[in-house]
Amino acid sequence: TAIPRRREVPALPQGVTAEAFQTAIADLRTLLGAEHVEVVDKALQDGWYMEHPNTHDMMTILDDEEFVASAVVYPGSTEDVQAVVRWANKHLVPIFPISMGRNLGYGGAAPRVRGSVVVDLGRRMRQILDISGDDFTCLVEPGVSFYALHDEIQARGLGDQLWVDVPDLGGGSIIGNTVDRGVGYTPYGDHWATHSGLEVVLPTGEVVRTGMGALPGNNTWQAFPYGFGPFSDGIFSQSNFGIVTKMGMTLMPNPGGHESFLYTFQKEEDLAQLIEIIRPLRIRNILENVAQLRHVTQSVAVRGLPRTNFYEPIDGLVPEDIIHEAAAKSPTGDHTWAYYGTTYGPPEVRALKLAAVDAAFLKIPGARKVDTSTFPADEYFWSRDRIASGTPDLHELRWCQWVPNGSHIAFSPVSPIRGADATALYALAKQRHAEHGIDFFPAFCVGLREMHLIVEIVFDRTSAQKKAAALACLRDMVDDAAKLGYGEYRTHLVLMDQVAGTYSWNDGALMKMHETLKDALDPNGILAPGRCGIWPKRYRGRGWEM
Ligand code: ADP
Repeated sequence: TAIPRRREVPALPQGVTAEAFQTAIADLRTLLGAEHVEVVDKALQDGWYMEHPNTHDMMTILDDEEFVASAVVYPGSTEDVQAVVRWANKHLVPIFPISMGRNLGYGGAAPRVRGSVVVDLGRRMRQILDISGDDFTCLVEPGVSFYALHDEIQARGLGDQLWVDVPDLGGGSIIGNTVDRGVGYTPYGDHWATHSGLEVVLPTGEVVRTGMGALPGNNTWQAFPYGFGPFSDGIFSQSNFGIVTKMGMTLMPNPGGHESFLYTFQKEEDLAQLIEIIRPLRIRNILENVAQLRHVTQSVAVRGLPRTNFYEPIDGLVPEDIIHEAAAKSPTGDHTWAYYGTTYGPPEVRALKLAAVDAAFLKIPGARKVDTSTFPADEYFWSRDRIASGTPDLHELRWCQWVPNGSHIAFSPVSPIRGADATALYALAKQRHAEHGIDFFPAFCVGLREMHLIVEIVFDRTSAQKKAAALACLRDMVDDAAKLGYGEYRTHLVLMDQVAGTYSWNDGALMKMHETLKDALDPNGILAPGRCGIWPKRYRGRGWEM
C-alpha cells in the first residue's frame, strides 16, 4: 500500500536558507540540465521494492520527516558526478550518493542528514561497460542491477558459461550492494572480496581509479584488484569518502551443474551441535556456498500469508505451537531449523560432497533430508535454488506481508561459526524480541569462517508504537551483543552512530583515523555526512549523532 506523506516545501539542509537553496538549485540546473534535477516538494510516495522512492526511506522507522532529501539529481557521467561534487562544495549543500536505492532494511535511498541532495547515479549511469567471457569479469556502472547483468549475459549467449552472484533480492545495484558489503549465495557470495577495481569521484571532485586502473593502458584492472602501493578500495566501502562510478566484478564459471538440498532439524537446541557440524564442512568447502540456516517462523512467513491468518491478535508474539502447526502443514514439514544449501559440479562430484553432508547432518537426532523433488514450482526452496545458481529472484519479499504495511529493518551481528556464539546471539535476540512483543525471524548466513546472523524485524510502518518497539529492540540487541563482544557487519542509517560506537577499542582509535581521513578527503564535509557514523569536522560534536 502506498502511503502519501504530506510535503509542501523541500526539507532544507540545516544552515541553508530557502533563498540560498533556490540559488544553489538554479546553479545545479544550469550545470546538469533542468530535467536532471528534481526538488522534493510533493507528497512522499512509498511504492514498493521495484518502484521504490529515491527521496526517503519507504520503510521509515522514525518520524516521516527525519531522513528526507531536499532534491534529487541525476548525473549521466563521471564528469557530471564531478560537477555535482564541486557544486556541493561551492554551496555547502550535503549530498548523498545512491546507486539504485533499494537498500531496504538499511535505509533504502534515504540520506542520513535531512535535506541532503540525493545523487541518484542509477537512473542514467546504467551501462555494462564490459563482459569478458575469457577472464570471467565485468565492468559496470552504478545503475546496473543484478537482473540487468544476468539478462545481458543471457542475451549475449554466455549464460551457460558465466554466473553472476546475486543477493536475496536481485533488483538492487551491483555497486550499491557491493560497497555496502552485501552478500550473495554462490561460492562468490562475498561481493566485496570478488570485486576488482573501482573508479571513484573524491569529495573534492578529482577522479581516481584504484588497483591496476591507475596504470594507463592496462588490461588487468578487473583481473588483479591490488595494483601497487596501499590497497585503497576498502576506504570506499561503508564510508563517505568517495562516489563510486565504475566497478569491476569477477564472474563465476558455470561449475557444470548444481544441486540444492534442504535439511530440517527439529529442536531449537539443535542449533549449537548443527553449527559445530557446519564449521569444518564449510571451511573445507564441502559445504560450498553461503548457505542459510533459517528459523521456522521465517519458513512460515515467507509463504506470504499475514500473521492474522494464523493468530488473530495484532499484538504479542504468535505462539510457537501455532507456528509449528503451520509449518507441519507446509511441504517442508515441521521443524525449528531449515538448512538451504547447494552443491556444485558434475553429478559424480556432487555425489561425494552430498554423501559427506548427509552423514554429518543426520548425526543430529530428528534431522531430516527433505524430498524436494515433489515441491510445487512456487515453493520458497526453488527461490533459494535459483539464487544459489546465479539467477536473481524476488520471492524473499513475501515475508513483508506478515503484518500490514510490512516494513523491515535488520540486526546483523557476525561471529565465528561456533555453536556457543550462535546460541549466545540467538538467545539475546530472542529474549529482546519477547520483551518488545515482536515475532522473531532469525537466519544464519554462513560465510567461510564466520557467520552473519540476520534478524529481520517486520513492522507496520504506519504504527508509531510498532516502530518504537522495533527501534528499542534493535538498540537493546546492539548493546547486548557489544557487551558480549559481537558487532554488526552493516546497519540501518538510524543505528549507524550506535554501531560505530561499539567499535571503540583503544579509545575509539579506528573512528579517529576515519575522521582524519574524512577531514583530509572532504574538508567541507559535503559527502554523506554521518554515514557509518563518520561525521565531518563541520558536524562533529554538534548533536548530530542519534
Ligand atoms: P542497492 O540499490 O543495491 O540496494 P543502494 O544504491 O541503496 O544499493 O546503495 C546502498 C548504500 O551504499 C547507499 O545508501 C549509499 O550510502 C552507498 N552507495 C551506493 N552506491 C554508491 C556509490 N556509487 N558510491 C558511494 N556510495 C554508494
